[in-house]
This record gives sequence, C-alpha cells and structure tokens, in this order.
Amino acid sequence: MARPKPDRLATNIAVRSGERVSALTTLPPAAPFAEPKLRIAETIEAARAEILELSHQIHADPEPAFEEHRAAARIADLLGVHGYEVEHPAGSLKTAIRATRRGLVGDGPRIGILAEYDALPGLGHGCGHNTMAASGVGAAIGLAAMADRLPGEIVFLGTPAEEYGSGKQIMIDDGLFEGLDAALLYHPCDRSHVETYPLASEDVEVVYRGLQSHASADPWRGKNALDALILLFTSVGLWRQQLRPTARVHGIIREGGTAANIIPHRSAAWFMIRSEDEGEYELMRDRFRQLCEAAALATDTTVTIEYTGRARTMRNNRVLADRFRANMTAYGIEDMGDDPNAGSTDMANVSWICPTIHPDLAIAPEGTPGHSILFRDAAVTPEADETTLLAATLIAQTAVDLFLDPDLVAAAWRAFHESD
Ligand SMILES: [Zn+2]
Ligand SMILES: [Zn+2]
Repeated sequence: MARPKPDRLATNIAVRSGERVSALTTLPPAAPFAEPKLRIAETIEAARAEILELSHQIHADPEPAFEEHRAAARIADLLGVHGYEVEHPAGSLKTAIRATRRGLVGDGPRIGILAEYDALPGLGHGCGHNTMAASGVGAAIGLAAMADRLPGEIVFLGTPAEEYGSGKQIMIDDGLFEGLDAALLYHPCDRSHVETYPLASEDVEVVYRGLQSHASADPWRGKNALDALILLFTSVGLWRQQLRPTARVHGIIREGGTAANIIPHRSAAWFMIRSEDEGEYELMRDRFRQLCEAAALATDTTVTIEYTGRARTMRNNRVLADRFRANMTAYGIEDMGDDPNAGSTDMANVSWICPTIHPDLAIAPEGTPGHSILFRDAAVTPEADETTLLAATLIAQTAVDLFLDPDLVAAAWRAFHESD
C-alpha cells in the first residue's frame, strides 16, 4: 500500500484512508517487527471503546495534582481487567499506580509505559492529560495481548501531579522507577514533535506577613502585606528585561487581603520560575529570593519563600526518538522538528535516570493555546480520540522494538550515557 503524505493529525490519516476507524490497522507499520506491530494496532483498535471511554470519563471529572483519586481508580481497574498485577496506591502517593505484566518468553528489558491524569485548577483538562491516561492504558492493553511473545516485563506507571509538585520525582525517590530500561510517554499538542525541550522549573510559594489595622482610622499602625506583594510583582516585571528569552517567571496572587477597610496582614502568591539552562536556573532562584526579601524590607513585613516540585531539563534519548519517529512516519504523521514552545515537565526528571522520550502529537488545530479552555475542549474531540489511539499504538510499537531487539536497548543506554 502506498504511504500517505506526511500530515499532522491522526484523523486526517484516518479520513484519507477511507476507513476512519481502522486507519492504524490498514496501513503497514514500520519495519522491523511489522507483524507484531500490526497486532498491537489491531488490539488497540479492538479496545477503542474502553480506551476512549476512559479518556472521556477522566475529562468530564477533572481532579487536580495529588487528588486524582477517581482517575487513578478507573485506570487501576482497567489494567486489572487486562491481566496486570496492580499496585495502587504505589509508594507514598495515594494516586500513583504501578502495574506490571511479565512477558512469557524469558528475561528481557523492563519497559516503562507512563500515564498522567491530573487536571488544572479552575480549568479542568486544559493540558489534555485525559488523553495521556487513556493512551498509556491503551499501550498497556496492546502489549498485554502479546505478552506470550515478549521477554522481560511491561511496567505501567501512573504518575500523579505533573502540573504541580513533580509527582514523578516523588515516585523516583520511592524506588518505583528502579530497573527500568526505558520510559515512554506521549503529550498532546497543537503540533507533532518527537523531541521537546522543557525548561527547568519550580513552584515558589511566597507569603508576606504584616500587621492589621483600620485602613482609615489608624492605617499608620498597620504593615501592609499586600503592598509587599505588589512590589514583588513590579520587581519581577522589571527583572524580565534582563532575563534571557529562554527564561520565564510568572505568578498569581493566592491571597491579597479580605476587605478594603483592613490593612492586609497576610498576602500569598504562587510563582513559577523556569530556564532552559540548569546553571542559569540556580542564579534565577537566588535572584528571585532577593526580590522577595527586598519587598519585605520596603514594607516592614516578613516573608517566607518555599520552593517545591523541581522539574529538570530534558535529555531526549536519540535512539528511542529515532525509533518513535520511524513508527509515526509509517502512518504519515510528520515530525515538525523540535518544539519551539517550551513548558516544563517532571518527565524530564525521569530522563536523567533511564532512556526517555516524551513526544508531542497534535490533537488540535495549530495555534490552539495550551492550558486554555480551547485546548480543554479540543481534548475530547474526534481528532483527540484518534490521536489518543495513535499515541497508544506508537508507544506500544516502540516498546515492541525494545522488547524484541536487545541491541536497541543497549544502543539506547549507550546514547543515555553519551549525554552525561
Ligand atoms: Zn500542562
Ligand atoms: Zn501536560
């Protein structure tokens, strides 16, 4: 069959093939191992209804970081149905999952299939993590169906709290990633990029404490904690001119007082600071602390600054990226090059402990902003559904490449160590 011209949306491939629901099963997968890869695609297509129902259920029932109880329960149940030995909760996080299934033909690699499922406060699934949960489960279903032909072990890791708190780092510290030979995770986007370069990042909670007083009767007795916060935002705004284009600093006010006639004695903000360079990031961290303290000095208030949830920069594994790219090209999906729009992710922390990929696949029209109502609504369209199944297929096929070719696993580890 002729290969389709490159495209960016899985639905376009599906429509062009003339058989919308079975595009992934009518086009020949990439060599090598085309036959088991076709079986993967067929298994995932056969499970289409349960995979997409999971995506839609999680989308309709959004839960923020560390509180993804219902999403995690749904995922754990489905993995149990498909023959996985499920550990939930796993480690110290109540909403983490570790589910394993041994291949039946001896020793081999341990390949990690990851899933995220947290939502954004006040927005819902504006990052499309419902599609990541469903595609991870879909990949696990596809691989489980051919466990009789695989060596090694399929390791599904349900990873909470990507949007806040870097849950994957907590799971790494809990030992849940030990022994993995690869970690594979897709992310939805408005374009398709095999390699992404997220920024080092951290959450910063800033709290100012002053002294209450009547805002008209005796304001001179007060110490205004809101003024401190306003000064901090102004300082950050001025600081931006001296920052590199690849640095980011942004925040929201959590608390700014309770009434106009009370001098606020307490104010709080949630900031994030980010950089593409870990060394520069450390300097930014110190500078931000100075800005916080300067605002406290100016307003005669006190400040506490708490950094949490450190995400690192990403080490894209070249060998895994090449294999994923070959698998997606077989379905006519174009790699649009390195993603120029960088956020941050705790998947980058995983990339420092084992070979890792975190490719983007398009679910929405190009130009749709991330973390928005538009992207949230795009995460349950037919386009998003097709991309979810595509992502499940490509992740599982890349896992098949690793399970069936020990040399590829060795090459991925060599590439991992070369980037040290
Ligand atoms: Zn996000
Ligand atoms: Zn995300």
